[in-house]
Amino acid sequence: MTQDEAHLSPAQRPKNGLSQGMKSLIVLGVLGSASAIAGLVMAGRPTSPILQTAEAATPLPLAARLVSAIDMTDAPAPLIKADGKLKRNETLTGLVTRLGAPAGEANAALQAVYSKDLIDHRRLRPGLEAETFVSDGHLTALSIKADAGRSLLVTRTLEGGWQATELNAKLTPSYKRVEAEIDGSIYNAALKLGADDQQVVDFASAFAYDIDFQREIHPGDRFEIFFETFVDERGTPVRNGEVLYAALDGKALKRGFYRYTPSDDGVADYFDEKGESATKFLMKTPINGARISSSFGTRRHPISGYTRLHKGTDFAAPTGTPVYAAGSGTVQRASWNGGYGNFIKIRHTRGYDTAYAHLSRYAKGLKPGMKVRQGEVIGYVGSTGASTGPHLHYEVYVDGKPVNAMSLKLPTGRKLAEDPAMLAEFTSYKDSIDVLRRGGNGPMAQLARAEVAVSP
Ligand SMILES: [Zn+2]
Repeated sequence: MTQDEAHLSPAQRPKNGLSQGMKSLIVLGVLGSASAIAGLVMAGRPTSPILQTAEAATPLPLAARLVSAIDMTDAPAPLIKADGKLKRNETLTGLVTRLGAPAGEANAALQAVYSKDLIDHRRLRPGLEAETFVSDGHLTALSIKADAGRSLLVTRTLEGGWQATELNAKLTPSYKRVEAEIDGSIYNAALKLGADDQQVVDFASAFAYDIDFQREIHPGDRFEIFFETFVDERGTPVRNGEVLYAALDGKALKRGFYRYTPSDDGVADYFDEKGESATKFLMKTPINGARISSSFGTRRHPISGYTRLHKGTDFAAPTGTPVYAAGSGTVQRASWNGGYGNFIKIRHTRGYDTAYAHLSRYAKGLKPGMKVRQGEVIGYVGSTGASTGPHLHYEVYVDGKPVNAMSLKLPTGRKLAEDPAMLAEFTSYKDSIDVLRRGGNGPMAQLARAEVAVSP
């Protein structure tokens, strides 16, 4: 399963510990006791769910040191170190063998990992890093970066078996801000600047209600993503976290969203600076927008969009790109439909239906009668039926009549301004995020700047 498949719309994602940490910061900011911010944020962190799992990832060099130390005492043969990443369709045994370990020993060492449930071998992702230490043709030790926040070290026991250990190191939360002009695809620009896949997907899902990623991004448009990042004891970034702020400054739309969890309902969502939710009744781009390259007009993707002759909107995207339910509703149909190829129709409330055509496949288990939530993956882009290339053909119906999904006025989500107390809470949170955004990268720089900014 990829990160994309696991993705749900902002409102469906679980509340995490960040907002609790940030609330501590806000409280202190209000008190003006800024010098204590660092202490409180750090002290508050371990109680939040995200931090309990944020113990992690001793970098591979430590494993090398441990192994060398063992090796010095009784093995004169040189220790050969090799590292590599898991390829698509490769097994972990395949990778460890490719890095020089005999297959039998690779299997035995990995068995020690599986037997302690330290890794789920059915959910391994390409790119997973491993390092082997081989001496005299035998595997001496193995280190696996199990996921972004965890390393495993497998060593031989005195009895000749294998022992797997989880290595922990303290991670320090920090923040990173990437900002650039969109050059064809937000994805490439953001990745080049140090964001990961997940941050771009979060960015795209915050804007999926508002913008047609295919046709409404123009040359010169700019974006900003401000997100959490965690560094280990050496200051090496280990993994990235939640997107705290996402902004688009473009011809079609200028809007910024803060990820925020209102204290009354506990539902995390993205809100603009006035406290209006990004969420609408239906998404404008019901597809992982991170994977769409903008057409910049229609020159790159000669696909029609909505015209009188064509009652839908087309999104060109690679085969396999996840397609989302544009809104919550009930699946009416998930079957072949002539020129539409593999086809899904969803019934929503208020007389709305949405349809998705040319899919390569349906999400596992999707059946008519089933309830789906907005942002849930229902299928994958393909080119089935009468189609000339991979794209999603998307249609919206109101009371059975096709309408232009790109110009619909849709019911919007929560407006915090309707409750002055909630708006005040949000505004104070938003201001603290803005202080962090305007600072440099790195926790000390961030906190130092926060201190200056909140002191009276
Ligand atoms: Zn079409």
